[in-house]
Amino acid sequence: MIKEKLLYLQTFGCQMNVSDSEKIAGLLKNIGYRPTNDSSLADLIILNTCSVRARAEEKVYNHLVQYKGLKRKRPKILIGVGGCVAQQEGERLLLNIPHLDFVFGTHNLHLLPELVLSAEKGERQAETDFIDNDSRLDLFPVDNSTNGVSRFVTVMQGCDNFCSYCIVPYVRGREISRRSADILEEISQLAAKGVKEVTLLGQNVNSYGLKSDGELDFVTLLRQVSEIPGIERLRFTTSHPKDFSRQLIDCFAEMPKLCKHVHLPAQAGSNAVLSAMNRGYSREEYLSLIGQLKTVSPGIQITGDIIVGFPGETETDFQETLSLLEEVRYTDVFSFIYSKRPETKAAGYTDHISQKEKQMRLDRLLAMQRKITLENNRSFEGSVQEVLVEGESRRGGQIYGRISGNRIVNITADPALVGQMVRVTITRGEQNSLQGELCN
Ligand code: SF4
Repeated sequence: MIKEKLLYLQTFGCQMNVSDSEKIAGLLKNIGYRPTNDSSLADLIILNTCSVRARAEEKVYNHLVQYKGLKRKRPKILIGVGGCVAQQEGERLLLNIPHLDFVFGTHNLHLLPELVLSAEKGERQAETDFIDNDSRLDLFPVDNSTNGVSRFVTVMQGCDNFCSYCIVPYVRGREISRRSADILEEISQLAAKGVKEVTLLGQNVNSYGLKSDGELDFVTLLRQVSEIPGIERLRFTTSHPKDFSRQLIDCFAEMPKLCKHVHLPAQAGSNAVLSAMNRGYSREEYLSLIGQLKTVSPGIQITGDIIVGFPGETETDFQETLSLLEEVRYTDVFSFIYSKRPETKAAGYTDHISQKEKQMRLDRLLAMQRKITLENNRSFEGSVQEVLVEGESRRGGQIYGRISGNRIVNITADPALVGQMVRVTITRGEQNSLQGELCN
């Protein structure tokens, strides 16, 4: 029998990392590790890292410094780093951080059990080689956890777009689409375990299949997933505006299981900045997409990403980003100050904007978006929504779930409803979520 040990897993950054962490937990369960929320009790600490912004990277180093003391007190504890910082730094991390035991890159998740078992014997290793595409197709880690009614399923990884600010193509590698037969099989298995909602996940999800001869295109994949018995809801993220086809827009009118939400990063509202970012679309093209989505699917919720203070962004450019927020009426926006990343093209651009000015622009943008978000959330008041109940809320006595438009609803109701689809009247729209009551 395998002796049970405790795993403390810290996840930084994007949904892809959250999904990878679920797979890490599944892989390490096979060699006797069970998750804990208390790092001081752990036998193994893993940091699944993000290097998309400098701040996320700094956080990883700060945590590693903190764990030095823990390792001194309990020398047998193992510490590993995975994800994008691991990919970027590789062996250097082992050289610079003597209390670190192993490092694994973005293509090496499948090697993790071996790395941990070697670390248990005292071997320090870094595995960060990129793997050729044919082998990668067989190595996509599958989510074998059993909890939850809503799961993410990776359908593609990597990116070929080389937006001038983005480190992803360097740390996640080039774009590859997973075999559709494997995806459909994984989702069928999830449905058999009681999963009702799947989100197809990829850095550039709507370019799925475009570069793989004989593979399904994204729209056909979506249609086939929606036919799997037991799957009641379907989502996908993250989409690139330049690959958002008319056929994909029409899916929102034609496929009842496809949820009324799209995450569609604009990054900026000015054509000069979009061009310097190498985004591959104009403001007008982006707004036309949004208009088409709202026409085929009235009430569709749009979320986005915005970068503030990109090198060369003038006050006029920034005003155009603010006006984009007003025109799109985003449900929510993830906004960040531009962060210079190694190897990227924009790292060589002259950055003339002061940190103070960048912060002021971000604050102005956040204030505007908070107002739009609250107005949007209030617009649901009195409506009846289908909610998939995901769990018990942190507010005592309540459960929570999501409407089709991806807003979270808290409901005072019996926890036995977790996992069920229920009808809810929205009683209040708050800043970050909705309140609702079960319909009779
Ligand atoms: S599309 Fe652009 S921002 Fe998104 S992952 Fe690819 S390079 Fe990065």
